[in-house]
Amino acid sequence: MANDAIAAIATPPGRGGIGVVRVSGPALEPTLHALAGRDLRPRQATRADFLDSTGAVIDQGLILYFRAPHSYTGEDVIELQGHGGPVVLNLLLQRCLELGARLAEPGEFTKRAFLNDKIDLAQAEGVADLIDAATAQAARCAMRSLQGDFSRRIEALVDALTELRIFVEATLDFPDEEVEFLESGKVRERLAGIRTQLAAIIAASQQGQLLRDGIHIVLTGQPNVGKSSLLNALAGTERAIVTEIPGTTRDLIRETISLNGVPLHVIDTAGLREPRDPVEKIGIERTWQAVAAADLVLWVSDLTRPETCVPDPALGARTMAGVPQLHVLNKGDLAGVEPSVRPKDGMVEVAVSAKSGAGLDLLKTAVLAAAGWDVANEGAFMARERHLQALQLAQEHVTQAAGQSEVELIAEELKLAQRALGSITGEVTADELLGKIFSHFCIGK
Ligand code: GDP
Repeated sequence: MANDAIAAIATPPGRGGIGVVRVSGPALEPTLHALAGRDLRPRQATRADFLDSTGAVIDQGLILYFRAPHSYTGEDVIELQGHGGPVVLNLLLQRCLELGARLAEPGEFTKRAFLNDKIDLAQAEGVADLIDAATAQAARCAMRSLQGDFSRRIEALVDALTELRIFVEATLDFPDEEVEFLESGKVRERLAGIRTQLAAIIAASQQGQLLRDGIHIVLTGQPNVGKSSLLNALAGTERAIVTEIPGTTRDLIRETISLNGVPLHVIDTAGLREPRDPVEKIGIERTWQAVAAADLVLWVSDLTRPETCVPDPALGARTMAGVPQLHVLNKGDLAGVEPSVRPKDGMVEVAVSAKSGAGLDLLKTAVLAAAGWDVANEGAFMARERHLQALQLAQEHVTQAAGQSEVELIAEELKLAQRALGSITGEVTADELLGKIFSHFCIGK
C-alpha cells in the first residue's frame, strides 16, 4: 500500500458539463470532511458544496466516497463531480493538494489498482487500450481484456504448466524410474496440449494486435485516379476515431478509417513532390519514413488512362521488401470492366469502381487478407507486442521441453515457460517495465 494520497483532474482538459477530480490514498476521511464540511456515507452520491480552507464554496456538485478496499485503487477514493471548467477544476485540485495529496502521475490510479491486486497487469493495459480504442471492435476487444478474459486464458495455461511441473519435479526424486514416470503421467500428451492452446492464444493475440495498432497503408497513384473517392467508399459510415497520440507523426497526410473494425492508417503520397521549402522537406521526409514502415501498399490506377498504370519507381525503391502490394484498377464503370481480383506480377490486382461501389467487397477482403486479418476470428484479445513476445517465448520453452528426454531439463524449460506467461499478468514483472507501461496512461486514470 502506498502511504501518500494522489489527486488529479480525471476528465479531459477544456470545458464540459461535468468535470471530475479524483483523490486516492490511505485514510481520506479528514480530506473528505474538509472538502464537504461534514462526514459522508461511503458508496453514496451526495450533493455537497466543495469548500476551500476558509469555508467558502469553490463549486457545488456530487461527492462519491469509496472506502478501502472497495474502490478502483483498493485505497480510499474520493470523486468530486463538479462543473467542467478548467479554472474551477484547477481550484478543486489545488484544494486537494492543500489537504495533503500530491499530483498523480499518468496511470498512477490504475498502477495502484494493480499493486493492490484489484486487477492484473493485462487488465490494466486493457484499461489504457479501451481509452485509446480507435474502432468499436477494438473497444470491445479491450473490454474483454479488461474483464479478465485474456488473463483467465493465460492463468489456465499457467495452471496446466504448474500441474505438469509438480509431476515432473516429483520424478526428480526417483531418478531410476524417470521413463515410467514420464509415460505414466502422459507428459508428452500434456505438453502437446499446452502447445496447441498456446498457438490458439497467439493467433487470437495477433488479431488483437492488429485491432489495437491497425494497419499502416500507403495510398499511391497519380492525381485524379480516385484515391480520395476510394478512401471514402471504403470508410463508408464506419469512420475510425483518430486520437492524437503524443510523439507520433503529426504532419503526415494521414487518415484513419475502419475496415471491419480494423483501423487502417492511410497515408496519401500525393504530397510526395520536390520540396519547395525546408518545412515541406521535413514533411516529405516523414512521409517517406512512414512509407518505409508501411504494412501494405495500395496503388490506384484509372482504367480509362493507361499512363496511370505505370508504377512509380521512387515509391518502389522506398517500400520495404516483403511488404504486400495491391493494385487497384479504378473506374471500372467507365471502362466497362467487371469487378475482379487476381494475382499479377507478384501483387494482387483488384478491379473496382469507387463510384458505384462495385468490387469494394473484393478489395476489403484483399486488404484484410494481406494484413493478416482473419475475418472468421471473433475472439481476439487486445494484445500488445510484449504479450506476443512473452507468449512466443513460452511456446519456445514448451517446444524445447517436448524435445527433451531428461526430466531435469524438462522441469527447467517448464519453469521458464511459466515465468514468461507470468510476465503477462504481472506475477513476475520488473519495476522498470511497470514504469514504462503506466507512463503511457492519461493523468487521472
Ligand atoms: P484523387 O485525386 O486520386 O484523390 O481522385 P478523386 O477521388 O478526387 O477522383 C477524381 C475524379 O474521379 C472525381 O471527379 C471522382 O468523382 C472521379 N471518380 C473517382 N472514382 C471513380 C469511379 O470509380 N468511377 C467514376 N466514373 N468516376 C470516379
